[in-house]
Amino acid sequence: MATADAGTLSAIARHARRSTKRFGGALELFTVMEARLERRKEEAPWNLASARVLRYHEGFAGDVGRFAAGSYAIELHRMLVPHEIAEVEAYSWLLDFFGRYENALPGPEQMVVEELALLTVLGHAPRFDRCVTCGREAPERSWASFDHAAGGIVCRSCGGRGIRLGSRLRTFLIEANAAAESREVPGKIDASEVVILRRCLDLYVRAVADREPRSMTALRSAWGL
Ligand SMILES: [Zn+2]
Repeated sequence: MATADAGTLSAIARHARRSTKRFGGALELFTVMEARLERRKEEAPWNLASARVLRYHEGFAGDVGRFAAGSYAIELHRMLVPHEIAEVEAYSWLLDFFGRYENALPGPEQMVVEELALLTVLGHAPRFDRCVTCGREAPERSWASFDHAAGGIVCRSCGGRGIRLGSRLRTFLIEANAAAESREVPGKIDASEVVILRRCLDLYVRAVADREPRSMTALRSAWGL
């Protein structure tokens, strides 16, 4: 589960199937709950002692695309947020996401803004404005190479390789990075740029998390990508 004061953590819900009274619908996806956790000693696994549902975001269950988007948000949070370390802002990001997209599938551009917002609060935002190796600012209106393993664009004299970002797409990404607060999609990009955008984020998320988010496949097909 995702928590405000202890990052992500795992807990055992004993007799959960039999004890519907104790847990109610609290163990469903997209449920915000108040939970009490106990454990016998440090290092022992947590037990979910009781849970009270505060809010169930049922809108995610009503549509395949929205379900994929909500699942991706949960998966991304789980992959990026450390185990049992407080990450209050990342938790707020997840609650915000539930509120914003329960009844409206975010488009691929909107999702990138969301992903960058989470990466920013966790200090993992990739750089699109300057070379991550030498720090030199990329000239405006120029293309650049995005190297997901390096964490951003790498200039030619530093051996830049990877995905070629055209100037419009690079500007989009710089502004998307800056939209962590407002979550506004910065202007229009075309369909071929959306494909490149998605490839950049998929590679980068996999590099940071060292895992592949499984729900992205379903989300891509909801987008027709
Ligand atoms: Zn450089």
